[in-house]
Amino acid sequence: MQGLEEFSDYCPYCGENITVEIDTSEYFQQYYQDCQVCCAAIFYTITVGDENIEVILQRDDE
Ligand SMILES: [Zn+2]
Repeated sequence: MQGLEEFSDYCPYCGENITVEIDTSEYFQQYYQDCQVCCAAIFYTITVGDENIEVILQRDDE
């Protein structure tokens, strides 16, 4: 699996539905990206498997 995948989930701060593009060429990634709605920094943990992608969104203050 390679390329960019669209993933949609709810912001852990404001609860709005947001869509992010995930680079599936990296097997494991952790990074901050600002919410498109409330601009809070969401911490992403992404694990790319053979058949599915696991994406975890976490608040920075927990
Ligand atoms: Zn938000």
